[in-house]
Amino acid sequence: MSFELLLALLLPVAAISGWWVAKRNTVQSTGGGGRSELSAEYFTGLNYLLNEQPDKAVDVFVKMLEVDSETVETHLALGNLFRRRGEGDRAIRIHQNLIARPTLTKEQRAQALLELGKDYMRAGFLDRAENLFLELVDDRFHRASALDHLSDIYQQEKDWEKAILTARKIEAETGKRMSALSAQFCCELADIAASRGEKKLALKTLKRALGYDKNCVRANILAGQIEKDSGNYKAAIRAYKQVEHQDPTFASEVIEPLFACHQALGMMDEMENYLRHVLSHLGGTSALLALAQIVCMQRGEYAAAQTIIQYLKNKPSVKGLDRLIEYNLVGSEGSARENLQILKDLTSKLVDRYPVYKCDTCGFTGKTLHWQCPTCRTWNSTKPIQGIEGE
Ligand SMILES: [Zn+2]
Repeated sequence: MSFELLLALLLPVAAISGWWVAKRNTVQSTGGGGRSELSAEYFTGLNYLLNEQPDKAVDVFVKMLEVDSETVETHLALGNLFRRRGEGDRAIRIHQNLIARPTLTKEQRAQALLELGKDYMRAGFLDRAENLFLELVDDRFHRASALDHLSDIYQQEKDWEKAILTARKIEAETGKRMSALSAQFCCELADIAASRGEKKLALKTLKRALGYDKNCVRANILAGQIEKDSGNYKAAIRAYKQVEHQDPTFASEVIEPLFACHQALGMMDEMENYLRHVLSHLGGTSALLALAQIVCMQRGEYAAAQTIIQYLKNKPSVKGLDRLIEYNLVGSEGSARENLQILKDLTSKLVDRYPVYKCDTCGFTGKTLHWQCPTCRTWNSTKPIQGIEGE
């Protein structure tokens, strides 16, 4: 028995005992029929709980409700406690029983429906939860909460069209901005279309995403990828180049595919210009390493190393240092080479160990970019890490 559960039960017991004392005094003065059995039953229920027999306790409390629906709040609190403790079956029984009571006010019934919906969600009965929340959306009580839960359900079910529709309803109901989220849902739809080879539909859906949120970098990254995979390199370049204007922290994400597109078109001069532009305006190790690669192809390792040194003086980075050592290894001999190799092993290990992305909301880090954080489930919160260990 947790202290939390005990406290929650003792409070109503204290309240009801007080009510019972008052009632008994009235009974004594009027000589009418008493309801003292309510308090006795409550103590019986409490006793079961104290003796770790919650099933019997629930039976007593549920029976009590039939005696007096004034205990609705207590039952709601008890049901919620069971849910939080992971005892979903008990929570469901209590809330189902509440809803079956004809004496509940409309507000009490709506509250019980909301709680039962949460029980179902917790237990994984998403269809049942959805039906309850849909009923609540048509009600004036708890409309916003019901919409939030529906949004959660549709995201879990990956029903993105319904998720978009619900996001719009939430925006209308609460004024909360949902456009960035709707854009992400469109990107999910586009991703599915692209994986089925429905390129036109995917690109159309990405335009829809940008209609919701013009700064949706994911839409352009995905559009770029679809065009690139189809060999439409110019269209891909156009999409990728939008990213730096939408969110400069994502500029590093498109360097590699842009490099590939320019290479395919034989336009490396243009790529070099673009990289120099990115480096002077935004910086970033990805752009630096790509530039060094072009310099290396044209003028060799020494010139590439010089390009990196020039930049690292102002903005040191482990990845930059790692590549610098790599270029210096070429052409070095004897003990100098051995020492460089030791350094290179060290920086390579560091590069491997550092995460690349971090969630702004919960701090989750990893090497894969997630548009929805796998830990805190927030959308749009994971970004490339900047600074000496990252970009
Ligand atoms: Zn997170």
